[in-house]
Parts: sequence; structure tokens; C-alpha cells
Amino acid sequence: MSVSTTPTLLDRPDAPLVGGYEVIIGFETHSQLSTRSKIFSRASTAFGAEPNTQACAVDLALPGTLPVMNKGAVERAIEFGLAVGAHIAPRSIFARKNYFYPDLPKGYQISQFEIPVVQGGVVEFFLGDRKMAVRLVRAHLEEDAGKSLHEDFIGQTGIDLNRAGTPLLEIVTEPDMRSSAEAVAYAKELHKIVTWIGICDGNMQEGSFRCDANVSVRKPGGPLGTRREIKNLNSFKFMQQAIDYEVRWQIEQLEDGHAIQQATVLFNPDTGETRAMRTKEDAADYRYFPDPDLPPLVISEDWIAKVRGEMAELPRVMAQRFMNDYALSEYDATQLTQSLALAAYFEAAAKACGNAKLASNWIMGEISRRLNAENSEISASHISATALAALIVRVYDGTISNNAAKQVLDVLWNDKVVIEPSATDQTLIDAIIEAKGLKQMNDTGALEKIVDEVIAANAKNVAEFKAGNEKALNGLVGQIMKASKGKANPQQVNDLLRSKLA
Ligand code: ADP
Ligand code: MG
Repeated sequence: MSVSTTPTLLDRPDAPLVGGYEVIIGFETHSQLSTRSKIFSRASTAFGAEPNTQACAVDLALPGTLPVMNKGAVERAIEFGLAVGAHIAPRSIFARKNYFYPDLPKGYQISQFEIPVVQGGVVEFFLGDRKMAVRLVRAHLEEDAGKSLHEDFIGQTGIDLNRAGTPLLEIVTEPDMRSSAEAVAYAKELHKIVTWIGICDGNMQEGSFRCDANVSVRKPGGPLGTRREIKNLNSFKFMQQAIDYEVRWQIEQLEDGHAIQQATVLFNPDTGETRAMRTKEDAADYRYFPDPDLPPLVISEDWIAKVRGEMAELPRVMAQRFMNDYALSEYDATQLTQSLALAAYFEAAAKACGNAKLASNWIMGEISRRLNAENSEISASHISATALAALIVRVYDGTISNNAAKQVLDVLWNDKVVIEPSATDQTLIDAIIEAKGLKQMNDTGALEKIVDEVIAANAKNVAEFKAGNEKALNGLVGQIMKASKGKANPQQVNDLLRSKLA
């Protein structure tokens, strides 16, 4: 596989247009691999150390040193390849990418060029209820450079080389995205994959997951436009803003009769604008050549099989299993596999209550709503999966109504419920139902008495219903529910009324 991939452009007649232009986006994502030591040395990768305490002689390529490939970094690349259904190259090559920059004193970055370790693959996700697929071109191993620290208060820039030699997996897509919304959905899915399989901590603030968005626009069906690359997007919010701004800017330029120059640009969150940083280099500018210090990276079938055997179930495989085992829709199964923790919570609840559909509805409805309001994740849920299951059991065995169950959930969510050591989830739920008097009326005699009273007191409604006005029944049901203080089962009330008025 050669590197100068002429992008293969998908025909997307469904693509949304902006001011008559089609937006074309391809991503390059630098995902920092979660190894404890650097990619070619034993120096630590820990974040936040004193500047320049964590780069060793190998990271700086001082004379006499030799890089040694970190096996853990390779295994993480293999795991990623397997997760996205890519080809793992049996033999890939490390190359030197030569350029000068203060944070790269050795003058070259070790990367992979012509033959990357991961080739092809696809990332699938939902955008709303639409299923999308973004094809990957490649993912290659490389080392990170140091960092320039701009100390504005003293008007100086310092260089911190701690990050030099940190292992990265650069993941490159085909230009398959057609809007900022698709791009953000792709980036979120990719983030989910790398954190799910545990190859990257996903911390965007610390720079563990940095996206570069290549953006161009064209008239539908016209030739591919020139792209500009927005560098280092480290939040999903900025990603959307930056792409939207860039698209508007490019269209404006074209409408004013200017050509777009290929460039690397930076997004400034304070102004909401993108600004050109440098004109874009071509691959030729980097004088790539195979690194003479590193042998080819050889990966055997056995090694791949071993890595595969040790991997946890992948999100898409798990979603498929949820569809098969629990008869969930693809959409529901995908939502419930947004994170390992959420999937585990769902499975625990579904198994404990024996009703996967209800467990899915409650988690995606009431639980998600409460978590969203608090801007937190399932790990912060105020109710355990098994307690939720115990609550669901009481809904479908008819003890309480849906509405009453929401009240029980409120109690568990908002109040500090003192749990006796001996209490099981079921006794806890039942105690709250009891204390709040939420039990549905299962005594038919008592319910019948209320129904009779309401019928007697509402001759007008009764006559209207008998004359064929279905809506008149709702009024009667409402009154009975009220008289029962909400404890009657609405379905039972309905049935009773209809049989009495037939
Ligand atoms: P480079 O090596 O210069 O970064 P690549 O060919 O590797 O260039 O492409 C980088 C990224 O840019 C890929 O994700 C690719 O899909 C995307 N891309 C290429 N051409 C365009 C274009 N005209 N518009 C938008 N994205 C593009
Ligand atoms: Mg590139």
C-alpha cells in the first residue's frame, strides 16, 4: 500500500449542501497510546511532570543511541486494526520524516510512511437514526514531538521535551464526511473505540486524542476542492465550530472569486475563527526515507491471534449480540453500547429483571434524562442496575404504575435513602412503594365501588359515551384515577368502565 492515496470519493446524493456547496471532510487523528514507556525508549510517558525531566537520550536521538520498538505500542495498534476490521500488515516500515521545529531538536520524526501497520478498516456509527460508515485509509505508529510553551507573561517561549517519543497512532480517514455534524459523530465514535479497547485514555484536554480536520468545498458533481487542514482540535464543541467557520470562510472566498490555497490552519476558540498557520507542505518536503536504525516491524498471524484472544468484546459485536439475545433494535443496541460501563449496566439490569426491552427503555429514557441533566455518565447513576431491575419488576407485575415507578426513582435519585444492611434491592424498592403509598389498587371490590360512584355522579359523561363519544370515557377514567389517588390501574379502570357501560 502506497502512501499518496488519491482519496476515493463517495457519491453522496444525500449530502446536505451549504449555500449550494458540498462540504468534504477527512480526518487525521493522533491517538496517544496508553503505554507506560515511550515508543522507542524506556522513559516514562506520564503526563504533568516537571518540564524536561522525562526525555531520555534515545528520545532526543543523541549520538550513540538506538531506538527499540515498544511491543506494547505495536499490540495496541493491532488491537485498533482488529476493532475496525482493518488489515494488519505482516511487515511494515518505520520512516524518518525530516523537518525542523524547535520542539523537534533531532530534526526528524520517526513515523510510518509507505507501509503502515494498519491498512483500511471502517468506523460505523449512528447520526440521529441514520447509520453512517467512514472508511479508514490507514493507521500508523509514530512518535510525538516535544511541546512549545508560550510564557506570555515573560514574553518567552520554552521547550518541554517530556512528550518527545510518546507513542501515537495516527488514524487517517477517506474524505467521507459531508458536514460538521457527521465529522463530530465520527470523532466521537473513534474516541469510543480507542477508549473501549483501552489503547488510549481519551483525555482530550491533555492532548491524548487530537483531531485534524481536512476541509474542502465544491459544487455538487464538480471537481474536488482544495483542502485546508484545521490542526489539533481537542474538544468536540470546538471541532464543530471550527469546521462550520472554515466552510463559511471557504465559500465566501470562492464566491468572491478567490482560489483556496492549501494550508494548515488553527482554530481560535476566543474569536471562533480559523487562521492560516503555514502553507501546507507536500510529502516530498519531508524527504521521507526508511529509518536505518529500525528493522521492519514484523507481525505474525500467531501474534495477531493472541492479541485477538485477549481483547474484550467490541462495541459493534456487543451491539449485535444485544440485538440477537435481547431482541433490541439496532438503534437501541447502539445507544446502549456507547460505553462499556453503560453496556454492563444494561446487561445487569436486563438479566436481573428478565425484561430487556423495559430495562432498555428505562435506561435510555428516565435514567439518561436524569444523567444528562447532571451532565454525568452512567458510573454516576444514583441507582444501581439491580435496584432499577427490582423497580422494573414491580411495574410489570402490576404492583405500581409507570408514573408511580418514576416517583420511586425520584426518591432513590434525590433523597438519601438509608439502606439497612440486610435489605435486598427488592425489599428496598418495596419499602419505598409502601412508604409512599404508591401501590396500585388490586382490590377489585374497592375499585368497583369507586367506578360505580363515579358513574352515578357523571350522568352527562355516561350519556355522551353511550351516544358514541369515545372521549367522554377519558373524563370518567380521569375522575376514577383521582378518586383512587392514582393507585388504580388505568387499564383495569378502562376495562371495568367499558363492561359496566356496555
Ligand atoms: P497529507 O499526507 O498531506 O496529510 P493525505 O492524502 O494523507 O494528505 O490526506 C490527509 C487527509 O485529508 C485524509 O483524511 C484525506 O481523506 C483528506 N483529504 C484529502 N483530500 C481532501 C479534500 N479535497 N477535501 C477534504 N479532505 C481531503
Ligand atoms: Mg497527514
